[in-house]
Amino acid sequence: PLVLGIETSCDETGVGIVRGRTLLANTIASSMDEHARFGGVVPEVAARAHLEAMTPTIERALAEAGVTLDDLDAVAVTSGPGLAGALMVGVSAAKALAVSRGLPLYAVNHLVGHVGADLLRGEQLRPALGDVGELELPTVALLVSGGHTSLLVVRDLVSDVEMLGETIDDAAGEAFDKVARLLGLPYPGGPQIDRVAADGDPLAIRFPRGLSLPKDMAKHRYDFSFSGLKTSVARWVEKREATGEPVPVADVAASFREAVADVLVTKALAACADLGIPRLLLGGGVVANARVRELAASRASRAGVELRVPPLSLCTDNGAMIASLGAQLVAAGRAPSGLDFGADSTLPVTEIQVR
Ligand code: ATP
Ligand code: MG
Ligand code: FE
Repeated sequence: PLVLGIETSCDETGVGIVRGRTLLANTIASSMDEHARFGGVVPEVAARAHLEAMTPTIERALAEAGVTLDDLDAVAVTSGPGLAGALMVGVSAAKALAVSRGLPLYAVNHLVGHVGADLLRGEQLRPALGDVGELELPTVALLVSGGHTSLLVVRDLVSDVEMLGETIDDAAGEAFDKVARLLGLPYPGGPQIDRVAADGDPLAIRFPRGLSLPKDMAKHRYDFSFSGLKTSVARWVEKREATGEPVPVADVAASFREAVADVLVTKALAACADLGIPRLLLGGGVVANARVRELAASRASRAGVELRVPPLSLCTDNGAMIASLGAQLVAAGRAPSGLDFGADSTLPVTEIQVR
């Protein structure tokens, strides 16, 4: 089926068009620059930017795919989780499109969409994809971005996804952004820390790993916590500043990056081992991190775990992944969602489609 997907859970207005598993268009407008002076995504600013970008982004996607609205078989949209006001813009646009064209509408889960991204193939992905085979299930999936840090087990994309762990405070990308800020680096901090860390010593400072809060704060076996790490970096920098000596920014960045990468990869591979699932899929903007990729690759290979990393354009938030999940729901014969669903900022991952 030819499916148009709309994604507005955070700061990307994403519109993607797929035919089954074939990617035809993946168009993005981001309001990231508008959030820079606040050091993080401002929900109201993001919602307004989605409103302005929605129609032009749909038009660009249709042009890129070489199709018209008449060609579409279905519309898919992110219903949650995410920023409520931002989600609402995509949900409203998708409803308007579906109703005006008489198309079935599928309201889907953003996190499961990230996994759906890995199904996509197509000419424009070929250079980035190389020779990877089909996604095999079950798989463990680690999704890390500015808004989420989630470890899932996916047994069936349209019917069986379970949360193994998530962050109980800051998301990993958020921690990168906050630590960058306290080191005087611009937003978004992830790429900046990555760049600066390349010249630093990752063993210079031993920052804490794992949950710094009491274990009973965790809901799941593999929950993450990054606020303790962030505070520990802040304390270390304060102490150094008090001595009047210069802060070794490269060493702090490298040591912090090492701690985050270590925690993410250790927990993900522990889940693979505990569940007996030798497959790990990565997704989310933090996957761009050089050390996360490197550590995941080396430790997965040592553990005999197949590591899958989709092209970065499909790892960050995008509409194609939502269209892909929508196409899978259509292919599975699922009934479309009713028109009375809304934006659900805390949609659980077990709810793959909202009715
Ligand atoms: P959502 O959480 O809904 O997916 P998001 O906009 O936060 O939304 P992305 O756009 O996928 O998610 O990712 C942005 C985040 O990824 C930012 O926090 C950014 O700092 C982080 N990031 C980007 N590049 C890197 C990198 N090289 N190293 C570490 N973090 C990075
Ligand atoms: Mg983003
Ligand atoms: Fe996301």
